Amino acid sequence: KVLRVAIMGLGGYGTRVAEAMKACNKAKLVGVISGTPSKVKDWQAKYSIPETNCYHYENFDQVKNNPDIDAIYVTTPNALHHNQVIRIAKAGKHVICEKPMALNAREGQEMVNACKKANVKLLVGYRMHFEPRTLEVIRMRNAGDFGKIMFFQGQCGFKIGDPTQWRLNKALAGGGSMMDIGIYAINGARYMIGEEPVWVTAQETKTDPVKFKEGVDETIQFQLGFPGGAVASCLSSYNINHLDRFFMSGDKGFAEMQPSTGYGPIKGRTHQGELTQPITTHQTVQMDEMASIIFEGKKPVVAVDGEEGLRDLKIIDAIYEAVRTGKKIKLTA
Ligand code: NAD
Repeated sequence: KVLRVAIMGLGGYGTRVAEAMKACNKAKLVGVISGTPSKVKDWQAKYSIPETNCYHYENFDQVKNNPDIDAIYVTTPNALHHNQVIRIAKAGKHVICEKPMALNAREGQEMVNACKKANVKLLVGYRMHFEPRTLEVIRMRNAGDFGKIMFFQGQCGFKIGDPTQWRLNKALAGGGSMMDIGIYAINGARYMIGEEPVWVTAQETKTDPVKFKEGVDETIQFQLGFPGGAVASCLSSYNINHLDRFFMSGDKGFAEMQPSTGYGPIKGRTHQGELTQPITTHQTVQMDEMASIIFEGKKPVVAVDGEEGLRDLKIIDAIYEAVRTGKKIKLTA
């Protein structure tokens, strides 16, 4: 059974997902939701999408009556995810939502609730959870190869361009680098260490308050404490280049990856040698695996459901609170 997907938001990432899906065995692009008629025409021609599977932001609730679409993949700016995902759930379709799933944990919880109530699946576009070299490090950790994990370092960032883009607009982005790229360090700390953090401390550095306005974080350093004693030291930035690096140390070994979350190829090594697992197109594997999760109830090694998205949002809320108050914030499960 093939997962028939419509993409909502035909921008940079939506295009990347569409291209990657060409190589999928279990997922197929069959529809679009867009506010730009010219893009709809282009996509229809390029991907042979019938008129009956094309919607815009006012009428996409009608997808409810369309038996030819199974799931909608939301790749719009962050602030729109909450409302759009809830509308899709109400239309009875499965949802794949891009990260960050929402702007905060309250919104995230509402999305999880809405999808549960509508009996549809909510998945988050955590493509690294299907990346073979990442999965090998997780396998080694589970096998005890690193011993007791003591330290994780996640450095995620890049120098962002155009100051007028939505990513630098608090109303559409919900914040700054943390919402966009810092979330990879949070999520990475969790899947590399394999535990949920119990406290957060965080500090913000702002060197350009004109480009990075109130509520749009330029650079945040944050620390996470884990129940087993490990600590994570992370950096999220929109103003530092070449930050795409994970390092993890245990009492028997280490793993380091650079690039660690970029589109690839992911490169890395452990105390046992280079990571040599196959190089994949992340979104192709993700969409095939998500089809199996939705139709066959397959359980991925690292979760990609709404609850998983919500965990990252709770940590983001705590990081912003820690920045604001200067205090150590306790996290509860
Ligand atoms: P983008 O600006 O390239 O595309 C956003 C699309 O949303 C555009 O087509 C735009 O027209 C449309 N849109 C609809 N309503 C809009 C509105 N009110 N204001 C502005 N644009 C509107 O952005 P992108 O890079 O494709 O990012 C989209 C989402 O995907 C974000 O949530 C981002 O975090 C996520 N993303 C994830 C990855 C990943 O690797 N998983 C990579 C890039 C982006």
